[in-house]
Amino acid sequence: MTSPDTMAQEAATPLLDWDSGIYREAVNQFDRVAAYIDLDPNVSQRLRLPQRSLVTTFPFRRDDGSVETVFGYRIRHVLTMGPTKGGIRYAPTVNFGEVAALAMNMTWKCALVGLPFGGAKGGVRVSPELLSRAEKQRLTRRYTSEISTLIGPQRDIPAPDLGTDSQVMAWIMDTYSHQVGHGAPGVVTGKPVELGGTAVREESTGLGLAYLLPLALEMVDLPLEGTRVAIQGFGQVGRSAALALARQGARVVAVSDLSGGIHCPTGLDIDALREWTDHNLWVEGFPGGDPISGEQLFEVDCEVLIPAAVQEVIHGGNADRITAAVVLEGANTPTTMEGDQILQKRGVLVVPDILANAGGVTVSYFEWLQGLQYYFWTDEETRQRLRSIMTNAFREVHRIAREEKVDLRTAALIKGVARVAKAKLLRGLFP
Ligand code: GLU
Repeated sequence: MTSPDTMAQEAATPLLDWDSGIYREAVNQFDRVAAYIDLDPNVSQRLRLPQRSLVTTFPFRRDDGSVETVFGYRIRHVLTMGPTKGGIRYAPTVNFGEVAALAMNMTWKCALVGLPFGGAKGGVRVSPELLSRAEKQRLTRRYTSEISTLIGPQRDIPAPDLGTDSQVMAWIMDTYSHQVGHGAPGVVTGKPVELGGTAVREESTGLGLAYLLPLALEMVDLPLEGTRVAIQGFGQVGRSAALALARQGARVVAVSDLSGGIHCPTGLDIDALREWTDHNLWVEGFPGGDPISGEQLFEVDCEVLIPAAVQEVIHGGNADRITAAVVLEGANTPTTMEGDQILQKRGVLVVPDILANAGGVTVSYFEWLQGLQYYFWTDEETRQRLRSIMTNAFREVHRIAREEKVDLRTAALIKGVARVAKAKLLRGLFP
């Protein structure tokens, strides 16, 4: 075990500009696992801090002619493993610490499922739903130009995250291609299929969740058929998970988004709900269920809860009211450490984000690979390879959890952190 002296020294390493609640949580979680696996203190000190960070403020023109200046970030946590990989989010609360924490999270996620990437994340502090399409395009192109020294098919490859989608990726790819003087589809993943994207990418995170749920339910002796699922968030992840799970025989009894939630104990008609949100944007007003508040979703009677929206929604204030036996983390860092401890004490099985939602980055990897080889797979091949990677990762994490007598989150982090630490030691220190 690491000596108390080393721990104290590590704890004293200033977090400087990255400091924020969510970053501190990410570091605390890492420190706990680093101590557990007796990680070389030099490596552990290095991995607590992101390697390359870019902060930018940049202007974009609103449709009414006014000019607004916003904050943007791109952070690459570890450059040891290959190019870096991670999404770009547009949200009003995005900050340096949040992006740094999520970049670190991407490192462990990629290492856990065995992808040849380090972690990265980017973001712009803006409310995407308040932007017109033209404003979003101008903002995206200017942001791409600001981060263009960091990104590239062999350097750092963005993808969609909260508030961004395949259209945003198309604009990033187009802007970057203009800058380098040739088409460079490999600079992003999650692109439209017509630009070299892969068909399964949009639904990949939800599919990954659906592949893992039967394995998690096995651990708590519950069948998938008829299992009641509540999903927070009906964006790309929430809706694809809902569709895949409903097809597998689960009963999605509640769904929420920023407008509130809807509840139907016998199971919502997910196809109808998808059609409703295609036309009305939000779940609010959907006639096939009773309205509930966003917070009530966490207390709905169900076996499975899938947080599939933003971070830190399960916390000390609501974790003991959750009725689910399984929490499947579709979002990144949806549970605070305090919330996690409460769930653990109550015997709730938590499938952690870096395992549960790894389907997204896994299919991003497939897209990147297909682009490099100019050889495209069928949907079926993509799905099969995704299922195999997700299932193997789950079995491996489960094995570590059993052998080490730890929870799945700790086991997943042990696997991810150990792989990166080993790679760091093998490459050595330059100069
Ligand atoms: N934004 C997704 C995540 O957090 C996907 C990242 C990627 O595909 O690079 O895992």
